[in-house]
Amino acid sequence: MPFWLVLTRGIMRSAPAGYGKRGGITCRIQPAVERDFRMSSVSLGHVAAQNEPARPEPAQPQPVPASTGLLTCGGGPLRLMAVHAHPDDESSKGAATMARYVREGVDVLVCTLTGGERGDILNKAMERPEIRADLPGIRRAEMAMARDILGVRQQFLGFVDSGLPEGDPPPPLPAGCFALQPLEVAAGPLVRAVREFRPHVILTYDENGGYPHPDHIMTHRVSVEAFEAAADPDRYPDRGEPWQPLKLYYFVTFHRARFTALHEKMVEHGLESVYAERLAAWADEDDDPSGPEHEITTNVPCADYFELRDQALSAHATQVDPNGPWFACPVEIQREAWPTEDYHLARSLVDTDKPEDDLFAGIREKVRL
Ligand SMILES: [Zn+2]
Repeated sequence: MPFWLVLTRGIMRSAPAGYGKRGGITCRIQPAVERDFRMSSVSLGHVAAQNEPARPEPAQPQPVPASTGLLTCGGGPLRLMAVHAHPDDESSKGAATMARYVREGVDVLVCTLTGGERGDILNKAMERPEIRADLPGIRRAEMAMARDILGVRQQFLGFVDSGLPEGDPPPPLPAGCFALQPLEVAAGPLVRAVREFRPHVILTYDENGGYPHPDHIMTHRVSVEAFEAAADPDRYPDRGEPWQPLKLYYFVTFHRARFTALHEKMVEHGLESVYAERLAAWADEDDDPSGPEHEITTNVPCADYFELRDQALSAHATQVDPNGPWFACPVEIQREAWPTEDYHLARSLVDTDKPEDDLFAGIREKVRL
C-alpha cells in the first residue's frame, strides 16, 4: 500500500472532529531515503537552471521583509498572492502555476502564515541532532531555497504552527498557536499584506483546508476574511490603505480526475501505478461528510514547470522524501496525462467565462499597464 495512502487514512482517523476531511496527499510524508541537506540555494538554483528547458531567465526574487514596511510592488503589472499555512505548502499546491506566471512577468507573493515550527522531521536522512535543534531555522532556510527556485517573493506572517493533533481523543491545541487566534487577530497581518502588495488574484485552501490540519482550516478563514475586508476602510483601519482583490481561488490539487488520468497513463506505459489503491479507497469516501470536491473552474497549463515544482518541493528536505510518493509518477507521464494545475473560482468581481485557463481572465482587460 502506498505510504501516503496509509498516512492519509491515519490522519483521517485521528483528525479532530470539525476539521473536515478530504481525500488526497497530505503534507506529512514518512522519511525513507538518504539526502544531503547541505545544498546551498546557489547549488539548487544551479540544478534548476541546468534541468530547465530554455526559457527566459526567471525574475530575481526580492525578499519581502516580515515587518510592516511597505512592499515594493514594482515588476509585473499583474499581481498574484498565494496564501499558505506552512513552509512547503507553496511547493505542493500551485507551484508550477506560480513558476509560470513569474516568468511571464507577474509579481507573485507567497504569504506563509506560520513558521512550521511543529512540523516533524519526515525524512530520515534529516534526522540529525543539529537539525532537530533548530528545525524552525532549517525550515526557513528550506523555504528560502524553494522561493528562489520558483522565483517568487515570500513573507512569513508570524504565527506559530498549531501542529496536527493526533490521538483518540486528540489533544487540545497548544496555547497561542495560529488556529486558536481570534479571527481578527489571525487575519490582521494578511489584511495588511493584501493592502501593501495589492494582489489582483488570491489563492488559498477551501473550507476543508484541502487537508485536515487546523492551520489549513484557519488559513482558509483568514484568506476569505482578508479578501472581503481589505477594501473596507472601516475594517482593520490600522492595517493600511484599502485594496480590493478581484478574484479568490481555492486550490483543487489532489482530485480524483487527475489521479485517475495519472493512473491510466502509468498503466498505458506499462508502469506500476502508485494510484490504484488510492483510487479504490476513494470510492469508499463517496459519503465523505465534508462534501464533494469543488468544481474545477480553471485549468492553468503549466507542464513546462513541473520540474521546477519538484525541485522546490525537494528543497523542503526535512519534510519531503526524495524517493517518496510526490515523485512516484514520472514528469513526462504527468505532462501527458494532466498538464495543468487546477482551481475553483470562489469569488470574482470581474466577468469571466468558465472554464478558464488563466487566473487573470477578466482582469487583464481591466488592469492598466
Ligand atoms: Zn501545511
